Amino acid sequence: MHGSQAVFHLVGISRELRLEIEDNLPGETVVEEVNGSGPLFSKAGKSGINILFLSPGRWENMDQEIRDELERYNQHLVLVLDDDSPQLKHHYNVSASFLGYLRRPVTRNALKSIRDKAREVQELYDDLHLMAREIVLERELLTRKNAQLEFLNRILTKTSQTLDLAEILQATAGEFETLLGTTGLAAVFWNHSENGMLAEIYLPEIQSKKIRQDWITHLIEVAKRFEGQAPKNYNYIPMNSGKNGLHQRPTPTRQILLPLQNRQSTFGALVLVSEEVLRLGRDQTTIINSAARHLALSIRNSLKYKAVKFEADFDGLTCINNRQNFDKKIRKELKRHQRQGASLSLIMLDLDHFKALNDMYGHLTGDMVLKKIGEILVNTVRETDFPARYGGEEFVILLPETNEEQAWLLGQRIRQKIGQTVFQFKDKKFSITASLGVASIKPGPLTPKEALVEQADQALYLSKFNGRNMVCTSAEVCMEQMVSH
Ligand code: GH3
Ligand code: MG
Ligand code: MG
Repeated sequence: MHGSQAVFHLVGISRELRLEIEDNLPGETVVEEVNGSGPLFSKAGKSGINILFLSPGRWENMDQEIRDELERYNQHLVLVLDDDSPQLKHHYNVSASFLGYLRRPVTRNALKSIRDKAREVQELYDDLHLMAREIVLERELLTRKNAQLEFLNRILTKTSQTLDLAEILQATAGEFETLLGTTGLAAVFWNHSENGMLAEIYLPEIQSKKIRQDWITHLIEVAKRFEGQAPKNYNYIPMNSGKNGLHQRPTPTRQILLPLQNRQSTFGALVLVSEEVLRLGRDQTTIINSAARHLALSIRNSLKYKAVKFEADFDGLTCINNRQNFDKKIRKELKRHQRQGASLSLIMLDLDHFKALNDMYGHLTGDMVLKKIGEILVNTVRETDFPARYGGEEFVILLPETNEEQAWLLGQRIRQKIGQTVFQFKDKKFSITASLGVASIKPGPLTPKEALVEQADQALYLSKFNGRNMVCTSAEVCMEQMVSH
């Protein structure tokens, strides 16, 4: 501060006194006369040191508001005394924080000491100001850090509370939306099995097919970049994840790519999407990376759980539900049927002369046929239907809210599709047929699981008995029984 120019603002000072001050002006000082009606503190905030020289009369008549204002802007006040009565001095001493007094005759030394004192006080003010500013900044920093810790805490709690991957991703999307203002999330995970590298792609529902395909291609590219090879196959899993900012094609500047690591290997990545170009600060990057490390753990667990559950519920060869899962499902559906009263049907399917097929073309060809049958079933039934491998070359399909006639029609469609499928063994082409049995229950008392399965089995037996490659219903079984009695 030393050396900065001081400005003496003379307020309501006589011409005579002004000349006296100007005659004794010390170095680095200028005089400015302030118009009697002008704002006294208009110079506040300007660089340099501003000192107001006031006459007692001017001070006496000054509104309290203006006095407060002067204090607020740290103006240095000097009272110019024409009369040095101790009474007056005492009065002003207690009523205002004056930097000093100026008595006549004015000396250069007196003005110099006023200038230096003002400089000193100004330095003190500036230091205090700086400290206050630092405290404000520190507080802002703490608030931000606190928000980030809260974010971490929330994201950890939410994502470790569930093993459901869709729920984890949904919570993640929501938390990042709050922290960074991102508007969507997509994810890709990959693993290697005997069938090669498989990618799982999670995307919110995207209306435009073209843009959805762009995103899938983009995520496959992400997997390829991390894994050093392209996935051989992928599954697309639509999800519901709050805001959906993925209605535009992927743009690198509007997304954050978060690799997910387990020990040293990367097993997936999250892509956060934003409407605007994203520029992250250092502390934001740190917090996001830290979140990603924890998220990787939750997601890894959930993927493992999914894999274990898949192995427990699905048949290894055909990849459709296995018998245990079917047993669970049928029990649940029978109860629901009893509660809600909708009809429920079951189709049982057995391949015709499968043993002969195995004998002729070998077991591996037989396996290939069973796999294909599984695919046909999955592709023919509705989302709510439940196809399963019951054992060997027998399959079942549980059909909620489906009556016997509708089930029979579906059975026919499946039978035709199987019959029309051409298989190949070396250079020989062949086909296979299936026999199906349909059983249904109408609203009524709880039917034991065994009864429904037994009825479908009898209908299937009737199809076999009547020449195979056909669909019989349990109603027909009853007719047969009545006729034969
Ligand atoms: P039908 O028309 O009376 O049903 O004659 P079928 O030969 O199909 O009946 P059967 O029950 O005598 O034979 C079923 C055959 O299915 C016997 C078994 O070798 C074969 N099989 C069962 N499970 C598998 C499997 O996982 N893979 C292969 N390749 N064959 C299987
Ligand atoms: Mg059989
Ligand atoms: Mg058979």
